[in-house]
Amino acid sequence: MLAKNPFLQSSARPFVAVAHGQGAYANTRAALQALDLTPVAGKRILIKPNAGRVALPGEGITTHPEVAAATIDALRAAGAEVAIGESPITGVDATEAFEATGIATVARQRDCPLIDLDRRPPVDVALGEGQVLHRIKVCAEVLEHDLVVSVPVMKMHMHTGVTLSVKNMKGCLWRRSKVKLHMLPAVEGDANKPINIAIADMASALRPHLAIIDGTVGMEGLGPSAGDPKTVDIVVAGADTFAADAVACRLMGTSAEAVPHLALGAARGYGVIDLDAIDVTPDNWHDWAVTFAGPPANLSIQFPNVTVLDNNSCSACQSTVLLFLKRYRDQLFDYFPDMEHLTLAIGKGHQELPEQTLCVGNCTARPKDQRPFVKGCPPVASEILRVLTGKPSIDTKDGRSPQADQTDAS
Ligand code: SF4
Repeated sequence: MLAKNPFLQSSARPFVAVAHGQGAYANTRAALQALDLTPVAGKRILIKPNAGRVALPGEGITTHPEVAAATIDALRAAGAEVAIGESPITGVDATEAFEATGIATVARQRDCPLIDLDRRPPVDVALGEGQVLHRIKVCAEVLEHDLVVSVPVMKMHMHTGVTLSVKNMKGCLWRRSKVKLHMLPAVEGDANKPINIAIADMASALRPHLAIIDGTVGMEGLGPSAGDPKTVDIVVAGADTFAADAVACRLMGTSAEAVPHLALGAARGYGVIDLDAIDVTPDNWHDWAVTFAGPPANLSIQFPNVTVLDNNSCSACQSTVLLFLKRYRDQLFDYFPDMEHLTLAIGKGHQELPEQTLCVGNCTARPKDQRPFVKGCPPVASEILRVLTGKPSIDTKDGRSPQADQTDAS
């Protein structure tokens, strides 16, 4: 459980600052200037960016390094001792991700420590209010710092609607334990996906003390990593992480009420998402709203010639298949010019499958029979490619690194 938030007074309305049009560094400093940062004086602060993948600045996948730089500078100017920490997605090395994202460079320039949060054993934390998640493994340093600042990227997310400062805290969960949130069974009688309930459960213990949302370049469509970059040149900051996310949602053309993990958390009293109950500066912040395209509702439109037979799968397997299709579908049909259609199966509930179906994930091991099979729980996109082509990689048109193929259970 994180310490009580010193920024929040129970009687006060949440306050959120928005800065736009000045570039990553200046936007961040301007947004933070509008907040009273005196509670950080003398405190040890962990900055938790989104550095969970090996991606370049400007791709809209990871936190812009100049936002990280401005966050370090502003918190230090207010008297804090700061470090940056991350537990990346499975298969990604934190040091490599810090280097690729440019965050290592700005941290080195400022002599700011970088922490691989996975390097030490975690702390087992019980979630008394958890509905589907009852225990989590939290990276030790997260609990050892006085305050945690969540610095996510403004992104759409194929499973959770958006990923902002509340969900970014999933990168405080130790190593592969974070994948557990994608593998929970559905709750009978509850229409919410278990992943969304799990994030609300996580927020019962891991709400950051300050949110700084990086909308320098966000991501629309198939976020969090397979979508399209969207330049917005905006930063949103606030101490009520739900309120900051709600303002960011509005700026993305959606609403927090439509984001299940935010609606669930707000209903439990973890924060405020009603924009009428939040003070936002400047008054004309609505003018900067844009529309982020959501993930495609119908995959057969997005991926013609592909059928995904999904019977009770986890979001981890769905992510792998979506990532595989996004990265490799075109190249695959180029590679096999005679292939007219690809059928994949994921999930626990299959009894019978058409011939020629590619079975993906350990749950399809039993019905696979003689069919091609990709093992893993969850499997990774590059392994699907290897099973289909016999090669671990084929030349891709976009030149992405193999790291981009890591399972996107984030
Ligand atoms: S194989 Fe896929 S669907 Fe089955 S438990 Fe693992 S992640 Fe979930």
